[in-house]
Amino acid sequence: MSADAPDPSGHPSRYPSPYRTGLAGRCPRCGQGRLFAGFLKVAPRCERCGLDLSREDAGDGAVPFLILLIGAIGVGFGMIFLLGFDWSVWATLFVTVPLIAILTLASIPKAKGLLIALQFVNKAGDTGHNTFDADD
Ligand SMILES: [Zn+2]
Repeated sequence: MSADAPDPSGHPSRYPSPYRTGLAGRCPRCGQGRLFAGFLKVAPRCERCGLDLSREDAGDGAVPFLILLIGAIGVGFGMIFLLGFDWSVWATLFVTVPLIAILTLASIPKAKGLLIALQFVNKAGDTGHNTFDADD
């Protein structure tokens, strides 16, 4: 068994870092297979280790965190442009709205991947068991 291979006992410390795998969009168990089959569509199974990803339930859970974080960044830049550089409201909106949209679209897959990986490693299902493996 290699260092990155999944541990059959399911001990969380044997899994790759959820931050590394989640932000990279990789399988939370093996760290090799792709987590997404599209922009935000989770793949039904890991192509490398066969982990059933169809029951992941992150949904839109990552979006509120992004709204708070990126909204604060966007408003901060807007205030700097308006007050610090004396830009007009329209110029500020012309720059900050696309900035917020691009940052949001770029970070949604990473945030969703991170949330799924953290759910997997921390067995965040309703029963306290991993929701990914039926026999876990
Ligand atoms: Zn895998």
